[in-house]
Amino acid sequence: EEDLALLEADEVPQADEGMEHGLPVLAVIGRPNVGKSTLVNRVLGRRVAVVQDTPGVTRDRVSYPAEWAGRRFTIVDTGGWEVDVEGLDSAVATQAEVAIAMSDAVILVVDATVGITETDAQVVRMLRRSGRPVVLAANKVDSPAQEGDAAALWNLGLGEPYAVSALHGRGSGDVLDAAMAILPEVSAVAAPSPAEGSLHRIALVGRPNVGKSSLLNAIAGSERVVVNELAGTTRDPVDEVIELDGRQWLFIDTAGIRRRVRQSRGADYYAVLRTQGAIERAEVAVVLLDVSEPITEQDVRVIQQVVDAGRALVLVNNKWDLVDEERRTMLAWETEHDLAHVAWAPHINLAAATGWHTNRLVRALDAAIEGWTTRIPTGRLNAFLGEIQGATPHPLRGGKQPRILFATQVQTAPPRIVLFTTGFLDAGYRRFIERRLREEFGFVGSPIQIGVRVRE
Ligand code: GDP
Ligand code: GDP
Repeated sequence: EEDLALLEADEVPQADEGMEHGLPVLAVIGRPNVGKSTLVNRVLGRRVAVVQDTPGVTRDRVSYPAEWAGRRFTIVDTGGWEVDVEGLDSAVATQAEVAIAMSDAVILVVDATVGITETDAQVVRMLRRSGRPVVLAANKVDSPAQEGDAAALWNLGLGEPYAVSALHGRGSGDVLDAAMAILPEVSAVAAPSPAEGSLHRIALVGRPNVGKSSLLNAIAGSERVVVNELAGTTRDPVDEVIELDGRQWLFIDTAGIRRRVRQSRGADYYAVLRTQGAIERAEVAVVLLDVSEPITEQDVRVIQQVVDAGRALVLVNNKWDLVDEERRTMLAWETEHDLAHVAWAPHINLAAATGWHTNRLVRALDAAIEGWTTRIPTGRLNAFLGEIQGATPHPLRGGKQPRILFATQVQTAPPRIVLFTTGFLDAGYRRFIERRLREEFGFVGSPIQIGVRVRE
């Protein structure tokens, strides 16, 4: 039988809500009903990680700030991740894999009254390959008479099984002491806290003559440009801090916009490079279109650069003052035809030259940043995908019907979601999933990256 592949670096989940920045992460994993949530409740000392009464009900939170023996850490309870009863073994393995990847150390809980199952053995193999330190908890040892059950778990090859009764508390202190001994002081997986006082970084991009410098002048003016040092900002001399609606924003590479380069073939090449660089450094790229002319291939290419770079996108229809009824009809058609794939981006009509509607930019930027940084808790994501699959399963293909066993958002900015499935998903079904995710969770102004990992 095939061993499961471990998550790749870019698929390692980052902090879920409830996970404190930078604290080491301890994951509690194991088969359903072995007592994971009960043990987590012991650690938390309160009934937060509510023990599952209704099977199949997914909780939103999986990680909690915890403290034991004077040490603070984040505890991840996979007990709430029930997803797919049919593919149970596969789902357990997947959850374990995700939890291992997002943790610094692991408590593997085994039900000592049941003994070692194939799923336990599979999880142990996964743990070995991950190299994560692990403490083995032999749970449901409610009395000394049951200690023998715990001893049988030496066979897992993980060292001493700690006999514990999560329900009554017996031995739970020893398990946690052992866990503290293997938990590193500094987390290798938790995301560091975002820099204080950092400004949102915006790039104004688009092909030559669409109105970038006009828009920059309209929103900045000469007197509004803040050039003094701001606490905590490192900025390039080519960038400018501009105040919009009483808030400060960092506009990337405005020198490149202000300094008009003569348009030759060579200059074009550098313009493309500059655009690429600005997009990479930005959080949000504002792509300007000159709507007095038809949308060009070059416009579409710049938009694609933004999507490929995984940046938030705002579209500006500039030179709206030049748009008459006839042009407006054409533009609607062109937009439908050429920009349907980015219909999720905020789209504003304005005239940079006159300043008309330029005050709408901030709202679009805020919306795009919100969409770009949206995080869907693991429980909610799985509950929603369960509903979608119930209502609209993947079409039958060659007598088979791929199913999504489990999903997790592994990063924000841009959102990246990994689907663990029983088979490859058709492109059409992936687009359907993306559309439904957008309807449910917004993700306005942001590309969504969806990865699919097939389980045998
Ligand atoms: P999880 O699915 O692994 O999170 O398991 P739960 O924590 O939800 O526990 C499953 C069931 O086992 C519940 O009915 C618990 O009360 C019970 N249980 C948990 N720990 C113990 C224990 O130490 N002894 C006994 N006898 N039952 C336990
Ligand atoms: P850039 O190359 O993208 O920086 O474009 P510019 O800002 O230099 O604008 C190119 C030309 O378009 C200039 O002649 C501007 O005056 C003109 N322009 C920019 N915005 C507008 C607008 O909203 N309406 C009209 N009618 N012309 C505009």
